[in-house]
Amino acid sequence: MGKIALVTFDKCDPCQCKDGVCAALLACKHKLIKQEKAGEIPLFSPGSCTGCGDCVRACPQKAVQIYRS
Ligand code: SF4
Ligand code: SF4
Repeated sequence: MGKIALVTFDKCDPCQCKDGVCAALLACKHKLIKQEKAGEIPLFSPGSCTGCGDCVRACPQKAVQIYRS
């Protein structure tokens, strides 16, 4: 059983991140998090997520959580 990170949409507020760029996106070494553009809610591609938690720690809104997959 693996672990995956996902964003909770109602907690995420990209305005809280510098220049609207998702801090979790910047923290993911595997580049599994994308934003269509700054200020948009990020999209996670959990396929090769290691569950490392770097994105969780980076998010100022505590909007990213690790789930068992
Ligand atoms: S770091 Fe958190 S609050 Fe900021 S855009 Fe990413 S998920 Fe949303
Ligand atoms: S848990 Fe780690 S690998 Fe998965 S999305 Fe977050 S930073 Fe990337």
